[in-house]
Amino acid sequence: MASESGVTAGIIEHWIDGASWSGGSERTGAVFDPATGAVAAEVRLAESDDVAIAVESSRRAFGDGWRYSSLAARTKVLFAYREILHERREELATVITAQHGKVLSDALGEVGRGIEVVEFACGLGSMLKGTHSEQVSTDVDVWTVRQPVGPALGITPFNFPVMVPLWMIPVAIACGNTFVLKPSDRDPGASVLMARWFTEAGLPPGVLNVVQGDADTVNALIEHSEIRSVSFVGSTPIARHVAVTAMGAGKRVQALGGAKNHMVVLADADLDAAADGAVSAGYGSAGERCMAISVVVAIDEIADDLVAAIAERARGLVIADGRTPGVDMGPLVTATHRDRVVGYVDLGVEEGAQLVVDGRGATVVGAEDGFWLGPCLFDHVTPDMRIWAEEIFGPVLCVVRVPTLERALELVHDSPFGNGVALFTRDGAAARRFQIEVDAGMVGINVPIPVPVAYHSFGGWGASLFGDTKVHGAEGVRFHTREKVVTARWPEVVERGPDLGFPRNQ
Ligand code: NAD
Repeated sequence: MASESGVTAGIIEHWIDGASWSGGSERTGAVFDPATGAVAAEVRLAESDDVAIAVESSRRAFGDGWRYSSLAARTKVLFAYREILHERREELATVITAQHGKVLSDALGEVGRGIEVVEFACGLGSMLKGTHSEQVSTDVDVWTVRQPVGPALGITPFNFPVMVPLWMIPVAIACGNTFVLKPSDRDPGASVLMARWFTEAGLPPGVLNVVQGDADTVNALIEHSEIRSVSFVGSTPIARHVAVTAMGAGKRVQALGGAKNHMVVLADADLDAAADGAVSAGYGSAGERCMAISVVVAIDEIADDLVAAIAERARGLVIADGRTPGVDMGPLVTATHRDRVVGYVDLGVEEGAQLVVDGRGATVVGAEDGFWLGPCLFDHVTPDMRIWAEEIFGPVLCVVRVPTLERALELVHDSPFGNGVALFTRDGAAARRFQIEVDAGMVGINVPIPVPVAYHSFGGWGASLFGDTKVHGAEGVRFHTREKVVTARWPEVVERGPDLGFPRNQ
């Protein structure tokens, strides 16, 4: 795709009241093309005055209209938006690849999973139905409705610039809320396209506003008194900070954090399938997925064979610009992030793990300034090593060897994260025990990346989620609505005179 000013080139601006908006801030940040290493665009970084204008627009759009709009009208917009996204999915995927670096097929997969949430939101009417109890007392009925909460805020990470915002926006607005999105400043181009297309689909001005920015922008947004709920997805330290600050300011919060997902391989597993799964989930998107497998837990007796099978596949991966057909892995998102991941590989060597495949020094001819790092595979990793304990978020797979399923479960539970976990086995009883006992929010049995479909909910446990509810599915609807209970009496005969006793049902 040719560079489009305001999306992949020039200055990427905010989207307020249904139009592009520069605001008053002079601050901008660099947006790179990770495959060339060049600065491709700048992104506007909002100051608190810009935040105030954006939130006021959301408050107005909520109170003046969207909160009272019919479910039919909201559904119509979402249907139209679904059609636009579907028709233009390649355009959106190209923007993702240009700024994130993931290969085009992977970016298309991301857009597809985002569209699934829009489709889920198109049918939300059935989930917004209340309940009704007739004649609970003489001439008294009680019913429950779910109402929108108010202007919602979404703060999203760089690694899924389309899917993660779409985990939140369609559900929030289908429930009658307005929404302010603060996308990652590393790949913000897709947010502008998504907002522009929502306007084209008929979404009224102010129902979705996009505020570009950095940490300062986030802090101004989460403390704004008119923001009623905060959905965050990103790293654990920032998730904790956002959750504590927003809860302290009296808002409801769901803050999804980082991960260290383990894949346990039992001795009876199909080793080829397990090796394929480990390589796909470990190195796909250069390991920059919250559902990436970063630790393979191998039962001792098959560990040698499994490590050999993973190493062979990892060495065969093709690394290049994600826009080139047939490429397996693109660059990392920035040079800073690539250097941080390389630092972890150096650390693993110092800690005494065996580096079986070394991706350091990988480069692409003609694009030497790209942010490259080849797949790295460590064997004989132990739980006292930082490369086991900490989230690396790059193409680095660690193999820990254990004697039994019990020890594998203990290892998983020793990690503070609890996002996703996978088990590869042919033993149904072992699989059943694992899925019951394991402490993690999303479990895959012979499925390495168990990302739930849109009508179930996505989210982890432990340090991978602060708050009570996951995103999309029934939990997303619960988060974006609040329950109201109405008790009404329409008596045929009105009894006069006050009664100071506590109301009794009779
Ligand atoms: P990040 O935490 O650096 O940034 C996330 C968002 O927070 C961005 O919008 C960023 O601008 C903002 N931010 C950054 N620093 C901030 C600060 N000090 N104060 C306030 N806001 C701040 O995360 P990232 O690097 O963009 O994304 C990768 C991380 O996200 C990984 O840890 C990954 O595991 C996690 N992630 C988790 C999930 C999940 O579902 N649990 C999904 C995707 C990504």
